[in-house]
Amino acid sequence: MARILAITNQKGGVGKTTSAVNLAASLASLGRNVLLIDLDPQGNATTASGIDKQGLKKTVYHLLLRTESVVDVRVRSPEGGYDLLPANRDLAGAEVELVQEKEREFRLRQGLESAAGDYDFILIDCPPALNLLTVNALTCAHAVIIPMQCEYFAIEGLADLVNTIKKIKARLNPGLVIDGVVRVMFDTRNTLAQNVSDQLKAHFGAKVFDTVVPRNVRLAEAPSHGLPALQYDRASKGAQSYLQMAQELIDKQEGNRNG
Ligand code: ATP
Ligand code: MG
Repeated sequence: MARILAITNQKGGVGKTTSAVNLAASLASLGRNVLLIDLDPQGNATTASGIDKQGLKKTVYHLLLRTESVVDVRVRSPEGGYDLLPANRDLAGAEVELVQEKEREFRLRQGLESAAGDYDFILIDCPPALNLLTVNALTCAHAVIIPMQCEYFAIEGLADLVNTIKKIKARLNPGLVIDGVVRVMFDTRNTLAQNVSDQLKAHFGAKVFDTVVPRNVRLAEAPSHGLPALQYDRASKGAQSYLQMAQELIDKQEGNRNG
């Protein structure tokens, strides 16, 4: 069965999509079957996976509304080596349309049931909000991955996120855990970043990934070519750091299974 990981942080522009896309490509290149879910109406993960989001007739929106199933919605990232449930602006309507519905928090979980056996990892790229879409992601995930820029306001926002995760765990998904905080866009020369990084380690301990993703222009350029960094510039520091993080994830999962 797939391990389902929600990549989330309600703060915008912190590297959620970059992490989701590059982890998907890296896990795939390490031989794992991967499904990436774009759960953001911005559709950035869709574009970065090499899929034109404008023309799509079937998206994750239709899965949430139960008019289509995973096999109808999923597409293959042409170069990424993984499957994708794409999204576009249609998804913005889901929030409003689902608000009156029963079991609205469970739509994604129910939609994925039929496909969980096809994958080793399912990664969910969340929108920058603690809204119903994010609640759907947290309700179906086994674990959360939180990308963080090591700056002061990031620590402030983290408390809200951790509280939300606790609430979802109590009400909707008792098994939910935080698999880790990953430091991204990291600049080693910046002493504030070092301080924040130390605070994160003090608070989250072993839940901080050993891998640190540096600020690397290749990671920012790759999406405009519709490619994960691994396919755009495999040797770049950005691509290599996500490959290392993917290996950490695999070791963690296989360690859990054996231990
Ligand atoms: P949103 O909240 O809007 O969904 P996000 O959290 O998904 O944003 P990204 O889109 O992944 O964040 O990243 C924000 C911007 O920073 C993008 O332009 C991306 O290319 C760039 N970026 C992300 N990670 C890195 C990095 N390690 N080095 C350089 N640029 C990066
Ligand atoms: Mg994003």
